[in-house]
Amino acid sequence: MLKASVISRKFFRNAMTVSLPKAQLNDLVDNQFQKILGEADRLAADLWPDPPKPNPILNPKQESDRVDPWDQLIHLVDKIKYVNTDTYGTPGFVRLVDCMPRYIPKDCTHLMCDHAIVQAARVSFNEGIKTPEKDKNLIDFLIKHKHTSPFEMVKFKFHIKCPIFVQRQWIRHRTANVNEISGRYSVMKGEFYCPRTIYDQGKLNKQMSGNEITDQETKYLFEEYMSNSYKQYNVYNNLIKKGVSREIARIGLPQNMYTEFYWSTDLHNLLNFIRLRSAPNAQSEIKEYSDAMKELITDLCPNTIEAYDKYSHTSS
Ligand SMILES: Cc1cc2nc3c(=O)[nH]c(=O)nc-3n(C[C@H](O)[C@H](O)[C@H](O)COP(=O)(O)OP(=O)(O)OC[C@H]3O[C@@H](n4cnc5c(N)ncnc54)[C@H](O)[C@@H]3O)c2cc1C
Repeated sequence: MLKASVISRKFFRNAMTVSLPKAQLNDLVDNQFQKILGEADRLAADLWPDPPKPNPILNPKQESDRVDPWDQLIHLVDKIKYVNTDTYGTPGFVRLVDCMPRYIPKDCTHLMCDHAIVQAARVSFNEGIKTPEKDKNLIDFLIKHKHTSPFEMVKFKFHIKCPIFVQRQWIRHRTANVNEISGRYSVMKGEFYCPRTIYDQGKLNKQMSGNEITDQETKYLFEEYMSNSYKQYNVYNNLIKKGVSREIARIGLPQNMYTEFYWSTDLHNLLNFIRLRSAPNAQSEIKEYSDAMKELITDLCPNTIEAYDKYSHTSS
């Protein structure tokens, strides 16, 4: 495990690369230094925890498989990816919490979760799993010809931590189940996405960013803008302490603040999400989450992802 002090120095060094006029630099660094160090310690603990141990409740050993090291259950303890890390605030993450199927029969290890797709597709013919080659070809055929319903037999549940502006895009995907942290029940955490790299307005696509901005004055203005998030959070905290209700106190909090939610969907709709949000015209921040989710499921649905990659440029 990496020591927190190593990470602290790393994050502090990143914070020190902020290019501000000297007086304001001192001011900002004085105010933010302790916060950044504390945050870095917390990140160090989060990012490099002790190696996780399989949860005996989530991953019970089958009585009949005691001598078999593969207990036929998918283990998800390390299924987490950190994203939006180009920040002097907090990174986000996407964690795969659960999946269906979780139990992989012994003759289906070449398919992993894909076996539920093959099983569902062949029910039309009252048939099931065949050979690895035939099963792979079937999945290829289904993706190619957009026979989508068998892919709805595979489900995923993710825990996501992302900035509110990313969540606003995410929530537009209606074919999913969502439970989000409530700013009415909970005091929001003072965690913000504060990107170090910023871009000018794109010329070709009206929605998109263009080239990196290197002008120091503009960069400083943006950094000041981001550090105001912390100032605004302090006001929020003071209002809560003075007895203002959580649901009203939160209304002035900025869009770069983090939110957390559980998001559950099936493989067909997840692929639709990935098609739209891993596309080159998607905002890079949500694209990182979409790419990460695809990576997290690749070893669980190897044939589906291979076929998706093969045909995704042809899908509408
Ligand atoms: C690059 C990009 C830019 C975008 N810009 C904007 C924007 O400027 N403004 C904006 O408002 N949105 C914008 N969106 C959001 C976009 O319009 C979709 O709401 C979002 O991508 C969800 O896609 P979806 O409907 O396919 O997904 P889901 O909501 O998961 O739906 C999946 C599929 O189910 C079907 N479906 C779901 N609900 C219905 C329904 N009620 N009626 C009929 N069919 C349904 C559709 O076939 C749909 O494709 C943008 C999305 C992207 C990727």
